[in-house]
Amino acid sequence: MHHGNVPLRILVTGGAGFIGSHYVRSLLGPGGPAEVRLTVLDRLTYAGNPANLAAVRDDPRFAFVHGDVCDAGLIDRLVAAHDQVVHFAAESHVDRSIAGAAEFSRTNVLGTQTLLDALVRHGGRTLVHVSTDEVYGSIGAGSWAEDEPLRPNSPYAATKAAGDLIALAFHRTHGLDVRVTRCSNNYGTHQHPEKVIPLFVTHLLDGRPVPLYGDGSHVRDWLHVDDHVQGIELVRTGGRPGEVYHIGGGTELTNKELTGLVLEACGAGWDSVEHVPDRKAHDARYSVDCTKIRTELGYRPRRDFASGLAETVAWYRAHRTWWEPLKEGMTCRSTSRS
Ligand code: NAD
Repeated sequence: MHHGNVPLRILVTGGAGFIGSHYVRSLLGPGGPAEVRLTVLDRLTYAGNPANLAAVRDDPRFAFVHGDVCDAGLIDRLVAAHDQVVHFAAESHVDRSIAGAAEFSRTNVLGTQTLLDALVRHGGRTLVHVSTDEVYGSIGAGSWAEDEPLRPNSPYAATKAAGDLIALAFHRTHGLDVRVTRCSNNYGTHQHPEKVIPLFVTHLLDGRPVPLYGDGSHVRDWLHVDDHVQGIELVRTGGRPGEVYHIGGGTELTNKELTGLVLEACGAGWDSVEHVPDRKAHDARYSVDCTKIRTELGYRPRRDFASGLAETVAWYRAHRTWWEPLKEGMTCRSTSRS
C-alpha cells in the first residue's frame, strides 16, 4: 500500500520486451514521476532482451529480476514488495500462436491469474493489465466501444481475452483494483524483427524482398509506442478500478498502404514485395473507439505516423547489432501483424 512521500514501487512484468522497456525507460526518464522505484520481472524469452534496459541498468531506482510470471512463490514475494503492477508479460506473436499455443495459454492466462492471486492475498494494490484490440475479433466498419463482446479469432487473441476476463472477474469478485487497457498495433524502436514493420525494414536494409500476406487489404490502426506509454500512464494514475480503456493511434492503413510507406522510407520499390499466402483466420480489420480515455483522462496521440516511421527506420539503420542476432534466430519468415 502506498503512503505519500515514500517512493511508489511499481512492478513491471515483461519489461525487457518491446513496449515494457519503452515504458520503463520513459518512467525513469526526464518526464517520469518524481518518486518511483521500478522492478522489472522478465523471463527473458526469445522476445526479452536485456539490451533494451541498458539505459536504466545503473539507475538506483531500477531493479531487474529474472523470473517467470507463473512462478507463484516469486510473484507472491514481488507483489508483497510493490504498490502497483503494470503487466506486459505475454507471448505476443500471432503467428507463433498458430504454430503452437501452449506457451500462450501458460503465460497469458496462468501468468495473469498468478499475479491476481498474489494481489488478492496482499490487498490494496493496483494492477494495470495491458491487453489488445485483437480480443474483439474483426470489424468491417465502425469502431468497438469497451463493452463490445469478445470474439477472438487467433489463439493469441483468445489467451489475451481469457487474461482480460479473469482480471475483470477478480475485480468483481474480490474488489481488486484492476484496470485493463486494449491498444491497437504498436510500432517504434526496439520492436522484435518478427513483427511486420521491423521485419520489413530490416529485410529492406539487407536488400531482401518483404513478404506481404494475401492481397494486403487487412486494415490496422498504428499506435506509436510513446503514445501507448502515455495512455498506460494515464490509466495507471487516473483510471477507474474495474474499467477497460482503449488506446489507439488514429492512423488506419491497409497492409498494402503500410508496405508502400515502409518501402518509401527505406528507398525501395514494389519489386521488393513478395506476395505470400494469407495467415489462417487473418482478421480483416481492428478499430477501437478511444472516446473514453480521451474524455475521462485527456489522452491524445501525439506522434504522427510519417515522422514516427522515419524515426523507427533510422533507429533500425543505426542499430544492426541489436537486430541481426535476433533475425538469425528466426525461423518463421513471414508476418503481417504484431
Ligand atoms: P514482447 O513480445 O516484445 O515482450 C514480451 C516480454 O514478456 C518479453 O520481454 C518476454 O521475455 C516477457 N515474457 C514472456 N513470457 C514471460 C513469462 N512467462 N514470465 C515473465 N516474462 C515473460 O511484447 P510487446 O509487443 O512488448 O507486448 C507487451 C504487451 O502488450 C503484451 O501483453 C501484448 O499482448 C500487448 N500488446 C502488444 C501490442 C503490439 O502491437 N506489440 C498490441 C496490443 C497489445
